Amino acid sequence: MVTTHNLGFPRIGGHRELKFALEAYWAGQQSEQALAETASALRQRHWQQQAQLDLAPVGDFSLYDQVLDMSVTLGNLPDRAKGPEGSELDAYFRAARGRGANDSACCAIAAGEMTKWFDTNYHYIVPELNADTEFTLNPDRLLAELAEAKAQGVQAKPVIIGPVTYLWLGKTTDGSNRLDLLERLLPVYAKLLETLADAGADWVQIDEPALVTDLDANWRHGFNLAYHQLKSSRPKVLLATYFGELRDNLQLACELPVAGIHLDAVSAANEVNRVADWLPTHKVLSLGVVNGRNVWKTDLEAQLNWLEPLHEKLAKRLWLAPSCSLLHVPVDLAPETELDPEIRTWLAFALQKLEEVLVLSQALNEGRDTVASILAENRAAIDRRLNSERVINPRVRAAVAAIKACQGQRNSDYAQRIALQQQKLQLPAYPTTTIGSFPQTREIRQARLKFRKGDLDAQTYKAQMEGEIERCIREQEMLGLDVLVHGEPERNDMVEYFGEQLDGYAFTRFGWVQSYGSRCVKPPILFGDIERPNAMTVGWIRYAQSLTDKPVKGMLTGPVTILNWSFVRDDQPRRDSCLQLALAIRQEVQDLEKAGIRIIQIDEAALREGLPLRRSDWESYLEWAINCFRLAANGVDDTTQIHTHMCYSEFNDIIEAIARMDADVITIETSRSDMELLDAFKNFEYPNDIGPGVYDIHSPNTPGKDHISKLMKLAAERIPAERLWVNPDCGLKTRKWEEVLPALETMVAAARELRAG
Ligand code: GLN
Ligand code: ZN
Repeated sequence: MVTTHNLGFPRIGGHRELKFALEAYWAGQQSEQALAETASALRQRHWQQQAQLDLAPVGDFSLYDQVLDMSVTLGNLPDRAKGPEGSELDAYFRAARGRGANDSACCAIAAGEMTKWFDTNYHYIVPELNADTEFTLNPDRLLAELAEAKAQGVQAKPVIIGPVTYLWLGKTTDGSNRLDLLERLLPVYAKLLETLADAGADWVQIDEPALVTDLDANWRHGFNLAYHQLKSSRPKVLLATYFGELRDNLQLACELPVAGIHLDAVSAANEVNRVADWLPTHKVLSLGVVNGRNVWKTDLEAQLNWLEPLHEKLAKRLWLAPSCSLLHVPVDLAPETELDPEIRTWLAFALQKLEEVLVLSQALNEGRDTVASILAENRAAIDRRLNSERVINPRVRAAVAAIKACQGQRNSDYAQRIALQQQKLQLPAYPTTTIGSFPQTREIRQARLKFRKGDLDAQTYKAQMEGEIERCIREQEMLGLDVLVHGEPERNDMVEYFGEQLDGYAFTRFGWVQSYGSRCVKPPILFGDIERPNAMTVGWIRYAQSLTDKPVKGMLTGPVTILNWSFVRDDQPRRDSCLQLALAIRQEVQDLEKAGIRIIQIDEAALREGLPLRRSDWESYLEWAINCFRLAANGVDDTTQIHTHMCYSEFNDIIEAIARMDADVITIETSRSDMELLDAFKNFEYPNDIGPGVYDIHSPNTPGKDHISKLMKLAAERIPAERLWVNPDCGLKTRKWEEVLPALETMVAAARELRAG
């Protein structure tokens, strides 16, 4: 008999119940007790929904983040978060979110650093480590949830992050080597495993996704050391890897002394047979056969075709599960009644994915006949999608086939272009600009919502948005900014806005996925060939430009970012979808140019996010990603100025690719790093204009003029002054007008001072 299980369930709730409960608690509108009740009800519901599995995960639930939870379990919250005020829960949230100085308490506490969980769009709180870090076991949360699950009759399998991955995810604050902490950490893990076994756990899932990354000899040794030391007969350990291939770590993973291993059979499909051959015969092999990172139905027949022989060989040693935790997909397709009915039949969210696991296991255990009708239905849906005219658009195919390399190339090189642009734009030294969005007020959000619901007619909506644009232009003129923006009031989200206007995209109503803490995103679903039926932004930008003589930037999201923040097709490589997006954005760029727009900004906020986990795969990703950007951006005259914007601060390792984008101006996040990250641009002798962010828009504080001047002077030590722009870090949409106006005023004043010398 095949054993079925799950690695983790989305915890935010199908209707984001956890989000609302958390935010009410943080706002002081709900008690700790009420939050605990919501959390417990969600766990209960989620276990019920997983009741048919042989083993359900326990401890995968989190009030904020599973890595932060592990830090608590290991007694490793930063000292600054502890302290006398509030409950343990408050200390936990302080570690996650920090605390502002103007809260009732005296001084500010920095939030934990947040970073991407492997190559997903989930962000975890980075464990803080140093040479003196001591670990102590704090198993209360896990024990309580285990008891809760058992009381509900759940076949519980606690889930924890493994010791090596925990350290791998962490950062030392004193420059020491975090791996040196392993020996101190292992006794705590040993005790934790024993405690869980005593509490009745037969199996414990230990997540070690670090195994799919490039590991040097020390880290590999760390794995051996850890699992040889933790080796014991109880509880049985299922070592889980996911998100990629094991490659050079395959033998290491197979030989670790554990009771079983989970392999991501979607992203490491080609390794399944090797692992099955290599794995000692007393070990369980859990295969993640249903994609936990995407929303498509699994081709069940295709999976059974290769699973059946494996099942014969492995028999009851074969387990089935989704490829990774279902944290990365929406909960349930059932409430998506507004989705196009045909597209809906192609999709599977978390609950549907678990059903797929069950069907596969039944087909293996009892024969395909016993699930014949389900398989037939699945086959029909897969075939309909494969042959759908909505997926394959011959016009798009022809356009992609006709792309020529020269289309990604500007007519002249940067030096010539910038001179021509300057003639036309006549900008002062240290030109000032912003990144695009201005505060999204309640009125703006409400107008958009009403329009969407049909409670506001198109004309009234347009007039209202134009009013917002006008206000924004007037404010910028009064501030004395040099290059203006329209403020993006019509955009809910920088990807969704474009997706909604492109053929080939579908949208869910409740398809929320946790991004971090209580924050969720609703990635659009890219299901078919991408075509742009109409101009998407030209009307708004033209209107904005009509109000002023100063240049207004056309504002677009780049193809790579649109792709990286969408659920993508699994029937063609990412690069093919990206090329189609690039063509659509290129048309928009050219239409803006035709409408007389002199500067066009193409945001690539998520370009870096798409980097593969393995270094050796970077170049091929960057090659097509940069080509797509160039295709989108470079079909304009020399006199049209192309800007791009990126909101992160690590450029060292991709600076060469950034230079290949050949944007006339790049604006980046720098204000929190004292311009040190400009060293990457300096050392590379990056040739084009740069706008290093000098106003940290993530903070409500107004930056001081001296601070901005200091930052710009530091910048000018690295980049020739004639190539520097003055701008904030990122868009201003989350800020308030009262915060933005004084900050920009200061920024403009600082720029004027610099010009005066
Ligand atoms: N133009 C967008 C804005 O200003 C850019 C947002 C981003 O980089 N995340 O909001
Ligand atoms: Zn940004």
